[in-house]
Amino acid sequence: MIARNVTVVSHPLVQHKLSLMRDQETPTAAFRQLLREIALLLGYEVTRHLPIAMRRIRTPLTAMDAPFIEGKKLVVVPILRAGLGLADGLLDLVPSARVGHVGIYRDPKTLAAVEYYCKLPEDIAERSAILCDPMLATAHSAIAAVHLLKRKGCPRLQFLALLAAPEGVAAFTEAHPDVPLTVAAIDERLNDHAYIVPGLGDAGDRLFGTK
Ligand code: URA
Repeated sequence: MIARNVTVVSHPLVQHKLSLMRDQETPTAAFRQLLREIALLLGYEVTRHLPIAMRRIRTPLTAMDAPFIEGKKLVVVPILRAGLGLADGLLDLVPSARVGHVGIYRDPKTLAAVEYYCKLPEDIAERSAILCDPMLATAHSAIAAVHLLKRKGCPRLQFLALLAAPEGVAAFTEAHPDVPLTVAAIDERLNDHAYIVPGLGDAGDRLFGTK
C-alpha cells in the first residue's frame, strides 16, 4: 500500500515521457528535454497547494480581484547534480522562485549520504521548499537533504522525484512522514548496487552525457 503522503502522477503524458527516458537509445539532449518537460507536469501537481494572494487588476471590461501565486515565497532546491534537470522545469512554471543548492553524494562503499555543498536563500525560514532529485533509490540523500533544510529552519517542504524504489519510499516516509513525496512511478526494486530496476540507469550521467 502507498503511504498517505505519497503521490504517484500516473498522467499518460508523464508516463509516455518517462518511457522515452527509460529507453537506453534515447540520446542525452532528448533525455534532458524530457526531464524538463516531466518536471513541468509534476510541478503542476506539487504546486497545487501554493498560497495565492488577491491583487486588484483591470480587465478590458472591469476591475476585479484576481488570484496570483506568491512565487517569491517558493524555493526550489535541487540535490546536485541530477536534481538540476528537474529544477529547470519547475522554474519554467514558477520563474520567480528562488533556487537553493544542496550537494550530497552517496559513498559508493557504504551508500551513506555525504553532504559537500549547501547554499540556500537567507530567508529560507520564510519559504516553502520543493526539494528535487530524479531518483529516490535508497533515499539516503533525500532523507539527509530534508534533515538539512529542517535544520536551516525551512517551514514547509515537499520532495519531488521522477522514479522511486519501494525501499526508498518506505525509508523516506518513515524518516519524514510530514514531508509529501511526489513521483512519476515506483519501480520494482533496488539492485545490489542500489540502482533502481528497471529504472533508467544513472540519471546524472544520462542528463549530462558523462558516460
Ligand atoms: N541514482 C541513479 O541515478 N539511478 C538509480 O537507479 C539510482 C540512483
